[in-house]
Amino acid sequence: MQRYLDYNATCPTLDVALEAMAEAARHASGNPSSMHWAGRSARRVLDDARDKIARYLNVESGSLVFTAGGTEANNMAIFGCLSLAKKGKVVVSAIEHPSVLETITYWCERLGHELCLVRPQKNGQVDADTFCAQLDEHAVMACMMWANNESGVIQPVQQVVQACKQLSVPVLVDGVQALGKMQVDIGALDADFISFSAHKIGGPKGVGVLAIRRGVQLETWALGGGQERGRRSGTENVPAVAGFAAALGVLNFSDTAAVRDGFEEKLLLKMPDVTIHGSGVERVSNTSMFTVPGMDGETLLMQLDLAGFAVASGSACSSGKREPSHVLQAMGVDDRAARSSLRVSFGAEHTTDDAQALVDELVRIRGLLKHMAGL
Ligand code: PLP
Repeated sequence: MQRYLDYNATCPTLDVALEAMAEAARHASGNPSSMHWAGRSARRVLDDARDKIARYLNVESGSLVFTAGGTEANNMAIFGCLSLAKKGKVVVSAIEHPSVLETITYWCERLGHELCLVRPQKNGQVDADTFCAQLDEHAVMACMMWANNESGVIQPVQQVVQACKQLSVPVLVDGVQALGKMQVDIGALDADFISFSAHKIGGPKGVGVLAIRRGVQLETWALGGGQERGRRSGTENVPAVAGFAAALGVLNFSDTAAVRDGFEEKLLLKMPDVTIHGSGVERVSNTSMFTVPGMDGETLLMQLDLAGFAVASGSACSSGKREPSHVLQAMGVDDRAARSSLRVSFGAEHTTDDAQALVDELVRIRGLLKHMAGL
């Protein structure tokens, strides 16, 4: 039996999204910029999807720029903001997704901005006061994610956005992992930039959106035909946007806390030496990141894979080298423990039986690996 427990990496695409995509691809395959009937019908589907997405997100439809996913949305905000700013300081949490951290580092170096990384506390949450204390008169941009993709820990974005507003510092909130996993009021947050990705909520891969607050200045990212109000040229991917709108339309905040918490309880009963990262602080309800001492996370992942469980490990592969997770490192977890970590992320369909089966399998694998190592 196969169990997919890696929802933070991506979700299975929902039938409603697939149907909306097929419908748009079949019946609205014109270029939305064309003036004839075929173009007009594609434009109608695009405008309708844009209006729906804006309504669901509680933002103005004119604030939305469709992108090729969360990565591009973050890149667009960072480049667009920093290339217009006078030289200054960029304040960023050290646990951001690479699409923020790598991009900020690159543009800070290229444009001569100072990069100020704010580490989280041991529990994985960035302290709002510590972060805001860095927002002085030199600050030209701030970035904080709403929920962390590895630990699931919810970050104090409300306080940070408010502080940035008072100081007129543009702020990017990466909302990719928050949507559908917690109650979010995007309109009330009123960040300058907020990014989302369709495939994290059951929509298609390769489409996302950047919501830009009215009046915020942004250097143009992609030049060309002037689509998306001149902010991102290129013919819009109408079927993907229609699929995104359809997935958002059925998005219910699914509380998976009972399954996740049950999993952690059972795991700690069977393996009391396991450390759960971010427990004791507010997390999205589907995510569990933990260290199994003495075990290599990648080996555990592969053994679980053989048994039909798809989970993620606490290390990332970059240029063929396995690097321990920068999130765990920033939380003060040593490299050895970080390499012994796994991330499980549940979806709405999972039950306590799935949680129990995973615990049983982890216990079996650990026993097996210990036996093989002669321990
Ligand atoms: N931001 C966060 C927090 C993410 O978890 C991810 C994807 O894992 C992204 C951004 C990038 O989104 P995409 O895969 O749509 O480029």
